[in-house]
Amino acid sequence: MALKSVTSLSRGARPALLLVTLALLWLSLRNFDPESFRALLVPHPKLYSTQCENVQAPNQNHFGPVDTAPARRANATFVILARNSDLAGTVNSIKEIEDRFNRRYQYPYVFLNDEPFDEKFKSRISILTDAKVEFGVIPRDHWNQPEWIDEGVAKSWREWMVAGDIIYGGSVSYRNMCRFNSGFFFRHPLMEKYRWYWRIEPDVHFHCDINFDPFVFMEEHKKVYGFTITMFEYEATIMSLWDNVREFANMYPEYIAPDNSLEFISDDGGETYNLCHFWSNFEIADLDFWRAPAYQAFFEFLDYKGGFYYERWGDAPVHSIAAALFANRSQLHFFDEIGYEHPPYTHCPKRGNNWAKGRCTCDPEENFDDFPGSCLSRWERFINGTLS
Ligand code: GDP
Ligand code: MN
Repeated sequence: MALKSVTSLSRGARPALLLVTLALLWLSLRNFDPESFRALLVPHPKLYSTQCENVQAPNQNHFGPVDTAPARRANATFVILARNSDLAGTVNSIKEIEDRFNRRYQYPYVFLNDEPFDEKFKSRISILTDAKVEFGVIPRDHWNQPEWIDEGVAKSWREWMVAGDIIYGGSVSYRNMCRFNSGFFFRHPLMEKYRWYWRIEPDVHFHCDINFDPFVFMEEHKKVYGFTITMFEYEATIMSLWDNVREFANMYPEYIAPDNSLEFISDDGGETYNLCHFWSNFEIADLDFWRAPAYQAFFEFLDYKGGFYYERWGDAPVHSIAAALFANRSQLHFFDEIGYEHPPYTHCPKRGNNWAKGRCTCDPEENFDDFPGSCLSRWERFINGTLS
């Protein structure tokens, strides 16, 4: 039809039509974008995503497309403290973080243990990733109960905690672990070359695609400490901790940040601790924050007081109190978009469309954030300036 109507045009009208066609062609070539043209030739990723696991739908967020190589990387590592007997749970955790994040980003791993990792542990972990994996042994004096602890006193407090059915109350190795995570992991020779770390434990779950680089996010936004779950601590494990924190703060007022988060961790202006802490089995943080004079002095002060052994001070309240006091509030960050589970508690993304964007496997209605034991609503009110 169209052709027929062209041929039936008068001789005079044909050059005019040719001119119009050329002008249109010139206009469209001027806007020609070779990328969008190529995109027309390849099938949309959705069409073959069911056949090929590695192909991602172009699931964009404000951090950029997931299927392009990362534009920049941070000087960062995963760090995992584990025993040889934790192998199965560690395999599960690494498989999930690889699938949900690290197969695109290739951040290295540092595994630490108070005993040498056996060959089976090393080989079963190493096949899970293309990234660099290093296995380290913890120096004896970074792990064992120091000689200035009176073992008789420590033992009677352990017995008191066992009688009171306090979780891990009778365990010395658990106390070694808490002290190591409080004061030593960032000093291990394998960690020295890094600035940022992401702590992972055996048997945790990553429920959502992590379509951005949390390390780069931390760096770009000048953060020092990132968390996903915040909750109340068992008071019986830290009975004298706050008194010691107050003593330290009085001795070293210069270490307290001007815009700190005291209001988040204390309901009465610092008189008492309200037990809120960041659950440290997940941490994305700045190693230099722990290496700096404020935290070094704080850890040494607490270590000398002996509460890691006489009581059962956890690395979670120790890290959290330090982050709340020695950093400004803008340097602490809640990662809503990282769906994370350390049994029995899960943080499942709820803000905006984070849950759908992350293709999360968790149920947003079973979210620890909404449980009475969570401190997240207090954190949000604190950050929004609506805490009375
Ligand atoms: P919970 O999360 O407080 O219940 O404690 P976990 O048992 O999960 O221990 C915390 C972390 O320390 C995990 O990464 C464990 O693998 C690790 N861990 C605990 N005790 C020991 C230990 O005696 N030796 C080593 N190498 N790792 C330990
Ligand atoms: Mn654990």
